[in-house]
Amino acid sequence: MQRDFSQLKNRKFDVLICGGGIYGAWTAYDAALRGLKVAIVDKGDWASATSSASSKLIHGGLRYLETFDFKLVKKSLAERHMLLQAAPHRVWPLRFGVPVYKNSRVGSFRLKCGLMLYDFLAGNVPITQKHQHYSKADFIKHFPCLNPFELTSGFTYLDAQTDDARFVLELIDGACSAGAVCVNYCEVSELVEKNGKISGVIVQDKLSQESIQVDAAQVVDTAGRWSPNFQNDKDCCRLTKGIHLIMPKTVTDEALLLTAKSDGRVFFIIPWYGLTLLGTTDTNYDGDINNIPISNDDISYLLNEANQALKSANWTEQDIIGKFAGIRVLQQSSRDNPTAISRDWVLATSPNGLLSSIGGKLTSAREDAAVIVDTLCTNLGIHAACPTFGKVFPWLIGTDYQSLLDTSLAQAAQLGIDKESAVWLVRRHGNRVSNILQLCADNPDLARRIRPELPFIMADLVFCARHEMVVHLDDLLGRRLPLLILAKITAEELEVFSKTIWVVG
Ligand SMILES: Cc1cc2nc3c(=O)[nH]c(=O)nc-3n(C[C@H](O)[C@H](O)[C@H](O)COP(=O)(O)OP(=O)(O)OC[C@H]3O[C@@H](n4cnc5c(N)ncnc54)[C@H](O)[C@@H]3O)c2cc1C
Repeated sequence: MQRDFSQLKNRKFDVLICGGGIYGAWTAYDAALRGLKVAIVDKGDWASATSSASSKLIHGGLRYLETFDFKLVKKSLAERHMLLQAAPHRVWPLRFGVPVYKNSRVGSFRLKCGLMLYDFLAGNVPITQKHQHYSKADFIKHFPCLNPFELTSGFTYLDAQTDDARFVLELIDGACSAGAVCVNYCEVSELVEKNGKISGVIVQDKLSQESIQVDAAQVVDTAGRWSPNFQNDKDCCRLTKGIHLIMPKTVTDEALLLTAKSDGRVFFIIPWYGLTLLGTTDTNYDGDINNIPISNDDISYLLNEANQALKSANWTEQDIIGKFAGIRVLQQSSRDNPTAISRDWVLATSPNGLLSSIGGKLTSAREDAAVIVDTLCTNLGIHAACPTFGKVFPWLIGTDYQSLLDTSLAQAAQLGIDKESAVWLVRRHGNRVSNILQLCADNPDLARRIRPELPFIMADLVFCARHEMVVHLDDLLGRRLPLLILAKITAEELEVFSKTIWVVG
């Protein structure tokens, strides 16, 4: 997977996709698999905006039942089920605990009904994947980190987790393999029209500053929060901000869904790469869309709520390891409370033919992208059915996941790589893990962990630097391997990383 801006020159594409977050990536992959001539560009790195700032959940959205968004929950649960089968390395099950307290906003009976409905909407899932009820004593055994004060009982239910930035990257790689031209750090600066209809775009290479015209029969805007820049209707959507904090390890294999005492909102405590992901907030946002600030209020809201829910965390700002902010694009709504606005997605068509993706979720982006590509095919007069439902993910094609896992763990152990790191290697790279193990076999020093507390090894960094379209160090350490948010990296360490990567690479 290499960046080559020149591939955009002197060609006519069926479709140019502006924006390489999850929506652009699924659209490019689907369209390329259907045989369309596809180009996708992003003004920054792949998944550098909201698609690497999510809660990393592939979920139905239990809380959407409260707003009666049954259609969205059912659709997302179907996608979750499909992704767990088609991409077990990319999307893995994660059980959530929901404690019930004496004065819980949602009491035990209502929660039980909600979870039964959630299981029902998930369809025919095995009993092991359904919700479970626990007495107070058993629930505490399950989640010893919880504050037992006024706890009466608890439930667990199943959802799933991913690494959002790698999810996008794998689809971009799949699109490249299916013939799409994929260029990061390439900005769409202008739409080109002929007789009132779009006939291409002007793009600027952000590395060389060269600008060229790219001809395309159709243009899709998957620019997320920048989407209004391309539309006549600047008020086409509403923005809300959500922040996450990376905290020390608290939960191991299971997550917690909690209700904030201050405002009754739902938030999560989630295990992620051996640490804790705490989030998220949901506040109206009308500030600068290029720089999303994390305020003291955002931070103290999450820390206060977590400290009330946990037995002895007593987290302060000093305990924060990393933080990130994302922007949700929601459909326009007169409702003041952001949490009450639907998370569903719409496809808008401008008079000049531009297709704009508005809103949505990481979980349901595949199905939404299929609607985009169906529309493209209709406009282009092409008959091709959507190939992505149930299709094995690009880095698992031709591989049985369980055998891959067993073989890789055995090989990794022989190379001196600990089991936790080896499991993450398989999740992160699918069947390309053999290349990384080979690097360790050639140079045993690369089998060591980058940081003792994080399950990443040096060979992973070297492989990503060489093969994953890394342009800036931030792409490598922020998204290919999310080190910059999972550790406080010093300037000296950064220097050592860059030396090792480029010397070995
Ligand atoms: C706090 C938070 C938590 C969330 N948690 C979850 C979750 O757990 N599960 C879930 O399913 N969903 C979740 N979501 C929703 C999900 O993250 C988003 O729906 C999704 O990431 C949006 O993807 P996107 O492709 O539309 O936009 P983005 O990821 O923002 O991508 C848009 C891309 O367009 C590019 N771009 C913009 N302008 C141009 C231009 N002129 N030229 C070229 N490129 C351009 C940008 O650089 C950017 O990379 C969450 C959202 C937030 C904010």
